[in-house]
Amino acid sequence: MKRSVLSATLGLALAAGLAVLPTTAAAAAAPAAPAAQGYTAATYAGSAAETADNQAFFQAVMASAKAKQAANPGLATVVVTYDASSAPTFRNQISQAAQIWNGSVSNVQLRSGSAADFSYYEGNDSRGSYASTDGHGRGYIFLDYQQNRQYNSVRVTAHETGHVLGLPDHYSGPCSELMSGGGPGTSCTNPYPNSTERSRVNSLWARG
Ligand SMILES: [Zn+2]
Repeated sequence: MKRSVLSATLGLALAAGLAVLPTTAAAAAAPAAPAAQGYTAATYAGSAAETADNQAFFQAVMASAKAKQAANPGLATVVVTYDASSAPTFRNQISQAAQIWNGSVSNVQLRSGSAADFSYYEGNDSRGSYASTDGHGRGYIFLDYQQNRQYNSVRVTAHETGHVLGLPDHYSGPCSELMSGGGPGTSCTNPYPNSTERSRVNSLWARG
């Protein structure tokens, strides 16, 4: 049983192009998230007055991804590259979130890799989990330990990744909506975007 779970996890990680770190690297202390200077954030269960911040984060990631894509103008799909090495505890959740989004939309795809457009970080923060910019045009996602124990961790990770793809928070939405985040409460475990959210991301990343 243990073996099949492990190989399934490994398969997921490999399918997502995620580097499988040796145990020693995973156990090493994660570097701190970028300095709070210029901090803007869209949280998992915070206030709804964060639309401008969501937009700033999305613009930063899109600019970074599109600059690289300019070298391959024939490609219809924009590839957004992420670095998950600073969130080793959430390796599986990040891999699953990428798989969920990659299976949900076609105009943009997430890949693990170097020279990343954004990074994941982990730690303890009273603000919970959030997507943010570092004030220097770079986006990152912070995953809070306590919140990820409280709420379904794959949903939290997929939700924050939804900000990377341009979706704003909508805390008043139902559990079937990914961007309702912590709104529907801790019992909500749905990690999938609904059809409206999928369409919106495809439109945002449509060529031209
Ligand atoms: Zn959010």
